[in-house]
Amino acid sequence: MSRIHNFGAGPAALPLPVLEKAREELLEFGGAGASIMELSHRSVEFSRVCSAAEQNIRRLMNISNDYAVLFMHGGASSQFALIPLNFRIGGRAADYIHTGHWSAKAIKEAGVSGPVNIAWNGGPEHYVRVPSQDEIELGHDAAYLHICSNETIEGLYYPVFPESDAPLVADMSSEIMSRAIDVNRFGIIYAGAQKNIGPSGLALVIIHKTLLDRCPETVQVFHRYRTHVTGSSLYNTPNTWGIYMVELVTDWLLELGGVASIEAINQRKASLLYDMLDSSDFWRTPVRKQCRSIMNVVWRIHDEELEPQFLKEARSADLAGLKGHRSVGGLRASIYNACPLESIELLVSFMRDFESRNG
Ligand code: PMP
Repeated sequence: MSRIHNFGAGPAALPLPVLEKAREELLEFGGAGASIMELSHRSVEFSRVCSAAEQNIRRLMNISNDYAVLFMHGGASSQFALIPLNFRIGGRAADYIHTGHWSAKAIKEAGVSGPVNIAWNGGPEHYVRVPSQDEIELGHDAAYLHICSNETIEGLYYPVFPESDAPLVADMSSEIMSRAIDVNRFGIIYAGAQKNIGPSGLALVIIHKTLLDRCPETVQVFHRYRTHVTGSSLYNTPNTWGIYMVELVTDWLLELGGVASIEAINQRKASLLYDMLDSSDFWRTPVRKQCRSIMNVVWRIHDEELEPQFLKEARSADLAGLKGHRSVGGLRASIYNACPLESIELLVSFMRDFESRNG
């Protein structure tokens, strides 16, 4: 078996012990005589998996009973549409902070169903940092404030989350469970699973229960969060395999010591890479220092013409997935929870060598 060092932005690397366990259980789950994918979502076996996954998430993120934890279809993009439909009470405008590609997508979707107030739009430098509190222009009586807490493409994150009287809604797709956060600060947290917690197509939604009654009856039953809370994520057939994988990934994370432990590892991994980028003018990273994501490290080679060569040589050394998003170009290493320290050490040593040959 030969596995790459996977720096892909998502679907991304999963922990090897998780994949091994899934392989071991693929044909027969427990004593059930069938794969978990072949069992009813109402079976005893799957019910146990689903509730273990939820309990693991509650433990890892310290989530109180004031919040519902949901597994939903359609990835994070479906949440872009559902949030305004469910929570924009009385047609009120919703505040959105525009920090890059993914917050822009959320804004576009929200604009389809009602008014949006852009509370900040990238600043004069364009999407290289998040705003300070005094730069944010909150609307009067906004329904909620939406942020993308980690912009996967631009590689920036919020060292401190913004304040608003309205509920704070965060797309945490590319950083969920990578650092300790206080869930109580948020009305809703959501994340596509395919970066830090499992396979694609699945979204994790953590929602304060007081928000559930906001949804008007004009919204289709399937599109109401309330429906999925009442149905305990089983209103219709869920992505059973995806939820099973989330259970395995969260088991792995708990065994590792939880979010505080992985955060310390993540900080170390990110520092190795940023220290390398800061070490010479051969490299440059556009993101302001205090907003540098510890999950998605984005950079350029000063002489951009060297980038295709860098990518080619890196791939030959089994360092894969380092191409920046097609909308911005350049280079990016996504170093999610499951990306081992060893992969980053190898990348840094490859970069040092590349610089010495081309600098
Ligand atoms: N938000 C962020 C921050 C993302 O990185 C992504 C996917 N890269 C999405 C939303 C969209 O997720 P999905 O493809 O699961 O809809």
